[in-house]
Amino acid sequence: MISLKNRNEIGKMRRAGRLVGRVLKMLENIIEPGISTGRLNALAEEECRRNGALPVFRNYPHPRGGRAFPAAICTSLNEEVVHGIPGSRLLKEGDIISIDFGVILDGFAGDAAITVPVGQVDSRVRKLITTTEESLMRGIEQAQAGRRLGGVSQAIQEHAEKNCFSVVRDFVGHGIGRDMHEQPPVPNYGKRDRGPVLKEGMTIAIEPMLNIGSYQVYTRSDEWTVVTRDGSWSAHFEHSIAITAGEPEILTLR
Ligand code: MG
Repeated sequence: MISLKNRNEIGKMRRAGRLVGRVLKMLENIIEPGISTGRLNALAEEECRRNGALPVFRNYPHPRGGRAFPAAICTSLNEEVVHGIPGSRLLKEGDIISIDFGVILDGFAGDAAITVPVGQVDSRVRKLITTTEESLMRGIEQAQAGRRLGGVSQAIQEHAEKNCFSVVRDFVGHGIGRDMHEQPPVPNYGKRDRGPVLKEGMTIAIEPMLNIGSYQVYTRSDEWTVVTRDGSWSAHFEHSIAITAGEPEILTLR
Protein backbone atom coordinates (compact mmCIF):
# COMPACT_ATOMS: atom_id res chain seq x y z
CA MET A 1 0.00 0.00 0.00
CA ILE A 2 1.21 3.50 -0.79
CA SER A 3 0.84 5.80 2.22
CA LEU A 4 -0.20 9.44 1.79
CA LYS A 5 1.21 12.09 4.11
CA ASN A 6 -0.65 15.13 5.39
CA ARG A 7 0.84 18.61 5.62
CA ASN A 8 2.13 18.07 9.16
CA GLU A 9 3.83 14.80 8.20
CA ILE A 10 5.41 16.35 5.12
CA GLY A 11 6.71 19.12 7.38
CA LYS A 12 8.50 16.49 9.46
CA MET A 13 9.86 14.84 6.34
CA ARG A 14 11.16 18.23 5.21
CA ARG A 15 13.07 18.56 8.50
CA ALA A 16 14.56 15.09 8.15
CA GLY A 17 15.33 15.75 4.49
CA ARG A 18 17.00 19.09 5.12
CA LEU A 19 19.27 17.48 7.71
CA VAL A 20 20.30 14.87 5.15
CA GLY A 21 20.93 17.60 2.57
CA ARG A 22 22.97 19.65 5.04
CA VAL A 23 25.17 16.70 5.98
CA LEU A 24 25.78 15.77 2.34
CA LYS A 25 26.72 19.37 1.56
CA MET A 26 29.14 19.38 4.50
CA LEU A 27 30.78 16.16 3.24
CA GLU A 28 30.93 17.47 -0.34
CA ASN A 29 32.79 20.54 0.90
CA ILE A 30 35.51 18.59 2.71
CA ILE A 31 36.13 15.91 0.09
CA GLU A 32 39.73 16.06 -1.12
CA PRO A 33 42.56 13.64 -1.85
CA GLY A 34 43.85 12.00 1.35
CA ILE A 35 40.65 11.92 3.41
CA SER A 36 39.37 8.46 4.38
CA THR A 37 35.83 7.21 3.79
CA GLY A 38 35.73 6.30 7.48
CA ARG A 39 36.38 9.93 8.41
CA LEU A 40 33.45 11.05 6.23
CA ASN A 41 31.28 8.47 7.97
CA ALA A 42 32.31 9.65 11.45
CA LEU A 43 31.54 13.28 10.58
CA ALA A 44 28.12 12.39 9.16
CA GLU A 45 27.19 10.27 12.14
CA GLU A 46 28.31 12.90 14.63
CA GLU A 47 26.29 15.65 12.89
CA CYS A 48 23.28 13.36 12.65
CA ARG A 49 23.25 12.49 16.36
CA ARG A 50 23.98 16.12 17.34
CA ASN A 51 20.68 16.97 15.63
CA GLY A 52 18.81 14.23 17.50
CA ALA A 53 18.39 12.06 14.42
CA LEU A 54 18.98 8.35 13.91
CA PRO A 55 21.44 7.35 11.15
CA VAL A 56 19.15 4.75 9.69
CA PHE A 57 21.66 2.93 7.49
CA ARG A 58 23.68 1.86 10.56
CA ASN A 59 22.67 -1.73 11.38
CA TYR A 60 20.23 -1.75 8.47
CA PRO A 61 19.23 -5.42 8.03
CA HIS A 62 20.73 -7.25 5.08
CA PRO A 63 18.01 -8.09 2.53
CA ARG A 64 19.15 -11.72 2.26
CA GLY A 65 20.07 -12.37 5.90
CA GLY A 66 23.75 -11.35 5.75
CA ARG A 67 25.40 -9.01 8.26
CA ALA A 68 23.70 -5.67 8.96
CA PHE A 69 25.16 -2.55 7.33
CA PRO A 70 28.03 -1.42 9.58
CA ALA A 71 28.05 2.38 9.03
CA ALA A 72 25.95 5.55 8.85
CA ILE A 73 26.72 6.40 5.20
CA CYS A 74 27.41 4.37 2.08
CA THR A 75 30.60 5.35 0.26
CA SER A 76 30.91 3.91 -3.25
CA LEU A 77 34.03 4.75 -5.27
CA ASN A 78 34.56 4.58 -9.03
CA GLU A 79 33.23 1.18 -10.28
CA GLU A 80 31.28 0.75 -7.02
CA VAL A 81 27.62 1.56 -7.66
CA VAL A 82 25.94 1.66 -4.23
CA HIS A 83 26.21 0.32 -0.65
CA GLY A 84 30.00 0.66 -0.35
CA ILE A 85 31.21 0.39 3.26
CA PRO A 86 33.33 3.25 4.65
CA GLY A 87 36.66 2.40 6.27
CA SER A 88 40.37 3.11 5.97
CA ARG A 89 40.40 3.68 2.19
CA LEU A 90 41.81 7.09 1.28
CA LEU A 91 40.34 9.16 -1.53
CA LYS A 92 42.80 9.98 -4.27
CA GLU A 93 42.94 12.54 -7.05
CA GLY A 94 40.79 11.43 -9.99
CA ASP A 95 38.42 9.20 -7.96
CA ILE A 96 34.70 9.76 -7.75
CA ILE A 97 32.74 8.99 -4.60
CA SER A 98 29.02 8.43 -4.23
CA ILE A 99 27.69 9.11 -0.75
CA ASP A 100 24.24 7.89 0.28
CA PHE A 101 22.82 8.99 3.62
CA GLY A 102 19.52 8.49 5.41
CA VAL A 103 18.12 9.57 8.77
CA ILE A 104 15.01 9.27 10.86
CA LEU A 105 14.10 12.46 12.69
CA ASP A 106 10.94 12.83 14.78
CA GLY A 107 9.53 9.62 13.30
CA PHE A 108 10.11 10.39 9.61
CA ALA A 109 12.82 9.45 7.16
CA GLY A 110 14.96 11.43 4.72
CA ASP A 111 17.22 9.81 2.11
CA ALA A 112 19.53 11.35 -0.50
CA ALA A 113 22.76 10.71 -2.39
CA ILE A 114 25.40 12.66 -4.29
CA THR A 115 28.43 11.81 -6.39
CA VAL A 116 31.46 14.03 -5.97
CA PRO A 117 34.70 14.19 -8.00
CA VAL A 118 37.93 14.06 -5.98
CA GLY A 119 40.14 16.77 -7.44
CA GLN A 120 40.36 16.68 -11.25
CA VAL A 121 38.57 13.80 -12.96
CA ASP A 122 38.49 12.57 -16.53
CA SER A 123 36.04 14.51 -18.78
CA ARG A 124 33.93 11.43 -19.55
CA VAL A 125 33.59 10.78 -15.82
CA ARG A 126 32.61 14.40 -15.22
CA LYS A 127 29.94 13.97 -17.90
CA LEU A 128 28.71 10.82 -16.12
CA ILE A 129 28.25 12.79 -12.90
CA THR A 130 26.43 15.73 -14.50
CA THR A 131 24.20 13.44 -16.60
CA THR A 132 23.22 11.39 -13.54
CA GLU A 133 22.18 14.50 -11.62
CA GLU A 134 20.35 15.86 -14.68
CA SER A 135 18.53 12.54 -15.06
CA LEU A 136 17.36 12.80 -11.45
CA MET A 137 16.04 16.32 -12.09
CA ARG A 138 14.28 15.20 -15.31
CA GLY A 139 12.61 12.46 -13.30
CA ILE A 140 11.55 14.83 -10.52
CA GLU A 141 9.94 17.19 -13.07
CA GLN A 142 7.62 14.35 -14.09
CA ALA A 143 6.51 13.59 -10.53
CA GLN A 144 3.16 15.36 -10.77
CA ALA A 145 -0.19 14.37 -9.28
CA GLY A 146 -2.41 12.66 -11.86
CA ARG A 147 0.49 11.27 -13.92
CA ARG A 148 1.84 7.74 -13.69
CA LEU A 149 5.09 6.91 -11.93
CA GLY A 150 6.38 5.46 -15.21
CA GLY A 151 6.79 9.03 -16.49
CA VAL A 152 9.52 9.55 -13.88
CA SER A 153 11.23 6.31 -14.91
CA GLN A 154 11.04 7.05 -18.63
CA ALA A 155 12.42 10.59 -18.28
CA ILE A 156 15.43 9.30 -16.33
CA GLN A 157 16.15 6.48 -18.78
CA GLU A 158 15.78 8.69 -21.85
CA HIS A 159 18.18 11.33 -20.57
CA ALA A 160 20.75 8.73 -19.49
CA GLU A 161 20.67 6.75 -22.72
CA LYS A 162 20.63 9.85 -24.94
CA ASN A 163 23.99 10.62 -23.34
CA CYS A 164 25.21 7.04 -23.92
CA PHE A 165 25.17 5.93 -20.30
CA SER A 166 23.30 2.87 -19.00
CA VAL A 167 20.75 2.70 -16.19
CA VAL A 168 21.17 0.13 -13.41
CA ARG A 169 18.13 -2.18 -13.23
CA ASP A 170 18.80 -4.23 -10.09
CA PHE A 171 18.41 -1.33 -7.65
CA VAL A 172 15.59 1.21 -7.71
CA GLY A 173 14.12 4.11 -5.75
CA HIS A 174 11.29 3.69 -3.27
CA GLY A 175 8.46 5.24 -1.35
CA ILE A 176 9.64 6.86 1.90
CA GLY A 177 7.87 8.07 5.05
CA ARG A 178 7.81 6.63 8.55
CA ASP A 179 10.01 3.91 7.05
CA MET A 180 13.07 4.42 4.90
CA HIS A 181 11.75 1.97 2.32
CA GLU A 182 8.03 1.99 1.55
CA GLN A 183 5.86 1.23 -1.47
CA PRO A 184 6.10 1.80 -4.39
CA PRO A 185 9.37 0.78 -6.05
CA VAL A 186 10.63 3.63 -8.27
CA PRO A 187 12.56 2.16 -11.23
CA ASN A 188 14.92 4.33 -13.25
CA TYR A 189 13.76 2.76 -16.51
CA GLY A 190 10.32 2.15 -17.98
CA LYS A 191 7.36 3.60 -19.81
CA ARG A 192 5.26 6.62 -18.92
CA ASP A 193 1.91 4.78 -19.17
CA ARG A 194 2.94 2.24 -16.51
CA GLY A 195 3.01 2.22 -12.72
CA PRO A 196 0.73 3.74 -10.08
CA VAL A 197 -0.94 7.11 -10.60
CA LEU A 198 0.79 9.73 -8.44
CA LYS A 199 -1.30 11.50 -5.81
CA GLU A 200 -0.82 14.57 -3.68
CA GLY A 201 0.80 13.47 -0.38
CA MET A 202 2.89 10.64 -1.84
CA THR A 203 6.56 10.86 -0.88
CA ILE A 204 9.18 8.98 -2.87
CA ALA A 205 12.95 8.70 -3.12
CA ILE A 206 14.15 8.87 -6.73
CA GLU A 207 17.71 7.60 -7.20
CA PRO A 208 19.18 6.96 -10.65
CA MET A 209 22.42 4.96 -10.84
CA LEU A 210 24.18 5.39 -14.20
CA ASN A 211 27.13 3.41 -15.56
CA ILE A 212 29.60 4.32 -18.29
CA GLY A 213 29.48 0.74 -19.61
CA SER A 214 26.85 -1.97 -19.23
CA TYR A 215 24.05 -1.75 -16.67
CA GLN A 216 24.91 -5.12 -15.15
CA VAL A 217 26.11 -5.23 -11.55
CA TYR A 218 27.02 -7.76 -8.88
CA THR A 219 27.59 -7.72 -5.11
CA ARG A 220 31.10 -8.24 -3.72
CA SER A 221 31.94 -10.84 -1.06
CA ASP A 222 31.58 -8.18 1.68
CA GLU A 223 27.83 -8.82 1.11
CA TRP A 224 27.05 -5.12 0.50
CA THR A 225 29.21 -3.35 -2.07
CA VAL A 226 27.52 -3.38 -5.48
CA VAL A 227 29.93 -2.95 -8.41
CA THR A 228 29.61 -2.84 -12.19
CA ARG A 229 30.19 -6.18 -13.87
CA ASP A 230 32.47 -4.65 -16.52
CA GLY A 231 34.41 -2.44 -14.07
CA SER A 232 33.17 0.78 -15.69
CA TRP A 233 32.55 3.72 -13.37
CA SER A 234 29.16 4.57 -11.92
CA ALA A 235 27.41 7.63 -10.43
CA HIS A 236 24.36 7.96 -8.15
CA PHE A 237 22.15 10.90 -7.18
CA GLU A 238 19.04 10.79 -5.01
CA HIS A 239 16.41 13.13 -3.60
CA SER A 240 13.39 12.44 -1.43
CA ILE A 241 10.43 14.39 -2.84
CA ALA A 242 6.76 15.06 -2.07
CA ILE A 243 4.02 15.03 -4.70
CA THR A 244 1.94 18.19 -4.27
CA ALA A 245 -1.02 19.79 -6.07
CA GLY A 246 1.55 21.78 -8.05
CA GLU A 247 5.27 21.28 -8.62
CA PRO A 248 6.97 18.41 -6.76
CA GLU A 249 8.78 19.50 -3.60
CA ILE A 250 12.37 18.36 -3.07
CA LEU A 251 12.64 17.50 0.62
CA THR A 252 16.41 16.89 0.71
CA LEU A 253 17.67 20.20 -0.71
CA ARG A 254 21.35 20.86 -0.05
MG1 MG B 1 17.15 5.45 -1.23
